[in-house]
Amino acid sequence: MLEIQRIRVKNGTKKMVYIGPDAYPMPAFLIAGKEEGKTILVTAQIHSGEYPGTPAVIRIGKSVDPEEMKGNMILMPCVNVTGFQSGYNTRIPEDDGNLNADYPAAGKPVTDCISSFFMKEVFPKTDFILDLHSGGLSEPLTPCLFYPALSVTEESLAVGKKLDIPWLLASENKKGHFSYAAHVMNIPGLLLERGFGSLCEEEWIHAYEKDIRLAMDALGILSCGFRGTCAKEVIRSVRYLPFEEDGLWYSKVKPGEEIVKGQILGHTEDYFGNILQEYTAEEDGIVLYGNGGLKAAKGHLAVAYGRNAYREVLP
Ligand SMILES: [Zn+2]
Repeated sequence: MLEIQRIRVKNGTKKMVYIGPDAYPMPAFLIAGKEEGKTILVTAQIHSGEYPGTPAVIRIGKSVDPEEMKGNMILMPCVNVTGFQSGYNTRIPEDDGNLNADYPAAGKPVTDCISSFFMKEVFPKTDFILDLHSGGLSEPLTPCLFYPALSVTEESLAVGKKLDIPWLLASENKKGHFSYAAHVMNIPGLLLERGFGSLCEEEWIHAYEKDIRLAMDALGILSCGFRGTCAKEVIRSVRYLPFEEDGLWYSKVKPGEEIVKGQILGHTEDYFGNILQEYTAEEDGIVLYGNGGLKAAKGHLAVAYGRNAYREVLP
């Protein structure tokens, strides 16, 4: 049996309901397998405007047969509901909270009540978390995932290695949704990234459906009958290059591109076309994601690249 907020789901059945704080109901598929087993939590749109995970979660919620499952699923296709509905990008519109950085969220009452709900009501029932993201509006990326590097690392990587995602990146964040669960509550999990640009391509949705099924298979909840086939590398250190000034940004690299030390990654200009600064690679690496738009804002990310010295090809 699965029970969340006094909603009881009998073995071999599912419920489509709203759960969450009274003031912030969120849609959820609560699915209890016929046999007891592990419970997976799958969340999408922690960041509003990161779309491909949402239809994937809905399709899985509709299609899985709990009679065939050993274990449970808590599927939440749209966590930041108000952000999604209002077109507010990434954050919680009521208080500008970021669910990938504000666990807990002191001084941000709506974000705090959502994160508290997960900490108190959902995480204690969860054995593994998949959190589905996508590149932001101007943030092209190559499919990648983040695993917790400071706790429950091997349990998390064991599932990550079964997915069809080529880059497995270490995260030391302790204040995000999945990373708080991992690093503070010792619940393994992964943050997945596919697609970008606030687009919702069928190819990305379908890939996310496969990721969820591969994770269920790896956790023994439901076998999927296929395997992840892409070559994979673990990258234990990522370099995040921030802008040092405001300006116009002209990128010269693409996600997935190998770069060498000293290579120009892009440059900023002023409104009159004068170069402000060139940004160069400090070491050899692989571009993972970055700013693909025109606006450079001081302190915001220009380019993220995996450092070659910390790359390990998986067998
Ligand atoms: Zn995100």
